[in-house]
Amino acid sequence: MSTKPITVGEVVAAPGQTARGFLSTDVGRGVTVRMPVVVINGKADGPVFAVTAGVHGAEYPGIEAAIRLSRTLIPVEVRGAVIIVPLVSVPAFQRRAIYVNPLDGINFNRVCPGNPAGTITEIMAHLLFKNVIEQADYYIDLHGGDMIEALIPFTLYYKSGNEKVDSASKAMAEAYGIPIILGNTVLRGGTYGAAAAIGKPAILTESGGQGILDEPSTQTHVRGVFNVLKKFGGLPGAPDSGPAPVYYNKFVWLAAEQDCVYYPKVKVGQQVKEGELIAEFTDLFGDKVGELRSPATGPVLFLVTSPAINKGDPLMAIGE
Ligand SMILES: [Zn+2]
Repeated sequence: MSTKPITVGEVVAAPGQTARGFLSTDVGRGVTVRMPVVVINGKADGPVFAVTAGVHGAEYPGIEAAIRLSRTLIPVEVRGAVIIVPLVSVPAFQRRAIYVNPLDGINFNRVCPGNPAGTITEIMAHLLFKNVIEQADYYIDLHGGDMIEALIPFTLYYKSGNEKVDSASKAMAEAYGIPIILGNTVLRGGTYGAAAAIGKPAILTESGGQGILDEPSTQTHVRGVFNVLKKFGGLPGAPDSGPAPVYYNKFVWLAAEQDCVYYPKVKVGQQVKEGELIAEFTDLFGDKVGELRSPATGPVLFLVTSPAINKGDPLMAIGE
């Protein structure tokens, strides 16, 4: 059995080789966007895995985990191939930008699978999908809380309606080892949903937050990717067995209705009940201008920790 060369832009890895380089494209006005890519092409045949991180450039444990994986995985052990993009949004990383790409103010995770004739971020999403996701059999996208978000680890997958894809995505989430799994049916331009919609089993995994590069959150991602590779034949051995997962079906996002100072009344990970007071808002004089009661019962999965809130900004999300 022999594998075939894997090509990602100008990066070509022959069977048994690791190759690295950049996936680049001209996004107009003389600006070139470059994403680092590492391809570990195994000697033995097997599935192709895509691993991305840094879709949001300040979610550091995922980025660190992807860099480590790119240096740890070796072609003699890998079956099939692993394509790693350790930092998708280089401009956001460099400028320490939250949520969006500072070149156009757009959230990459809302515009997948992108558009080659669109804005800079849409072109980048298209580049990633055409060159990386479309040639993968399985896709893992590493995230965490952004610079101003605390979170408890959880894994998302998209229920596309294709039974085969959805059961594989769910099995990936279970193998990853984070015990909170949220299978949702809302396609919001996210990486994992757009991948599942074109028939690629996919998960988005969240660990770490608040702009902190910490070792436990990094390890959660490193272990998780190893587990998925083992589960689906990319590496020998069996995934670690972890705690039994808890499943949620809905990701209830709460957003601000006005510019305000934000005082959350709950902690991340806390169970809240429908109708419970979960946040208060004041103006810049401290006068109360509003409050928020939970529309759902379940755990607070992520929580914005900055008091500086603009109309439309996310505040927290509850799993239901
Ligand atoms: Zn993210």
